[in-house]
Amino acid sequence: MSDEFGAERTAPASVDGDAQASDSATEPVTFLDLGIDERVLRALAEVGYENPSPIQAATIPPLLSGSDVVGLAQTGTGKTAAFAVPVLSKIDGANRKPQALVLAPTRELALQVSEAFGKYAVHMPDITVLPIYGGQSYGVQLSGLRRGAQIIVGTPGRVIDHLAKGTLDLSNLEFLVLDEADEMLTMGFQEDVERILADTPEFKQVALFSATMPPAIRKISKKYLHDPVEVTVKAKTATASNITQRYLQVAHQRKLDALTRLLEVEEFDGMIIFVRTKSATEELAEKLRARGHAAAAINGDIVQAQRERTIDQLKDGKIDILVATDVAARGLDVERISHVVNYDIPHDTESYVHRIGRTGRAGRKGDALLFVTPRERHLLRAIEKATRQPLTEMGLPSVEDVNAHRVEKFGDSITENLTNDHLQMFRRLIEDYVGANDVPLVDVAAALALQSRDGASFLLKPDPPERERNARDRKDFGDRKDFGDRGDRRGRDRDRDREPSTHRKTGRPMMPYRIAVGKRQHATPSQIVGAIANEGGLRRSDFGHISIRPDHSIVELPDDLDRDVFDALERTRISGQLINLEPDPGVPSGRPAGGKQRFRAGRKR
Ligand code: AMP
Repeated sequence: MSDEFGAERTAPASVDGDAQASDSATEPVTFLDLGIDERVLRALAEVGYENPSPIQAATIPPLLSGSDVVGLAQTGTGKTAAFAVPVLSKIDGANRKPQALVLAPTRELALQVSEAFGKYAVHMPDITVLPIYGGQSYGVQLSGLRRGAQIIVGTPGRVIDHLAKGTLDLSNLEFLVLDEADEMLTMGFQEDVERILADTPEFKQVALFSATMPPAIRKISKKYLHDPVEVTVKAKTATASNITQRYLQVAHQRKLDALTRLLEVEEFDGMIIFVRTKSATEELAEKLRARGHAAAAINGDIVQAQRERTIDQLKDGKIDILVATDVAARGLDVERISHVVNYDIPHDTESYVHRIGRTGRAGRKGDALLFVTPRERHLLRAIEKATRQPLTEMGLPSVEDVNAHRVEKFGDSITENLTNDHLQMFRRLIEDYVGANDVPLVDVAAALALQSRDGASFLLKPDPPERERNARDRKDFGDRKDFGDRGDRRGRDRDRDREPSTHRKTGRPMMPYRIAVGKRQHATPSQIVGAIANEGGLRRSDFGHISIRPDHSIVELPDDLDRDVFDALERTRISGQLINLEPDPGVPSGRPAGGKQRFRAGRKR
């Protein structure tokens, strides 16, 4: 097969080794060798798969012969077909009851997996695949379940909800697939996953896929899988290894501030900043020039000759920063580009790969930075998937970092000028001045430094206290036309009785938020983390304490939650009840702030 998956094809016999490393098989494996249902084979040929990927070659035969499988494989290795193909080959189309359940951590993945099943089942008209996930109305799912579906692809929280309501009957379950098991645990679904594993028929076949094998996954595999065949496949990354990829989570209205701080602390030579629109290239380049950077814009409206002049200026070091659209920067090859900044996240992963390929040229090292607003988290995940490489989260450079760099640069510029030819002339002038005025040399030097810069803004002022910053951000939100009344109401609520705290591990400022489900609705911390993380695009590390009260719960979340998160969670339900996330309006004085039950995200303390 092609090296698309970064591995040599290996025979199924090498399943308990590293499928990439093993070269025990010399004969190429074809789909025909694997015992796949003829209708599925036809579909695979039609979607253009020529040969099985290593994970497919290694897992399809044992899954077809009835074994449990543990697959250590990342996205991009072809793992979806590795379980979908054998499941489809074995399913009984005449029986409308659910026979296969695939659990996936996110709605996006559930949809993607169910689409993949649809593609491979195109010649199996009696097979129905039904995705069920939080955020979609129960109505659609209930009618789907009533009509009957042999394959259910769902997020754990919603599957549990249906099981609790009695609307999902898994008594005929033959196959259970845990897709991205480590991610499901990270998102707080461990309890739900284990409950599903324990409460479904004992003699089902289980396939567990995970990019990593932390002890918790190992434990699940030991407890619920029967003598599984283990397969490990490493995917080749789609992006060059000489490019370091980082992302910064930043609210939309803070992007410019974040960028200017980064420009101060990052050691860069040449930089391309990608934005989404032509007008944004001009606006941002102008703002950067106003802040003293040598920046220029290129976009599709700029004539070719001007574009070439600008690129030459970048090559010669006359400008350091190009602000560009995807189209304008296509094919750009300038060795000194050390950094690519994705100021606006690209909507398709291909653009991301092209963008960051502008750095790390000619064997040099490169840095790619990506700005992600809370609402864009799903795009970040898609990028990580497509590039088969996780991006490292970075924090916003602090005021102290920025000031330390300014002081360092100040010292460097003194050192540099000490060797300047014109120094002698100024030495004489200063000696004359000191002789005539009896002023310490250090004062003279300080006065000259002040003369060359604006002393008032030489060092950044400390960040305003959280409360004040929130008020300022609210004002920014309020000014935005599309925020409307709802935003104002949230803004007011955020003022009342809020107790700022910081996240134990990340140090991020946190605030209590209230959701309208509690003990009465049998809400569990894992359900809460799962629902909010999944649908609001948050990560487990965004969660602080969760306190479950009789009729509501208090969840600690980042202080600067984007309004998009509220929008995204508008229709989110837990146990059928809208969660109605809002900043905690506070508890009446005299009552303790925490309920009896205090949890860290997903775990009882
Ligand atoms: P996955 O790891 O399941 O997300 O798959 C990654 C990508 O590889 C998807 O776009 C699949 O359509 C594609 N793919 C899966 N199996 C094969 C194969 N045997 N040959 C070519 N492409 C494949």
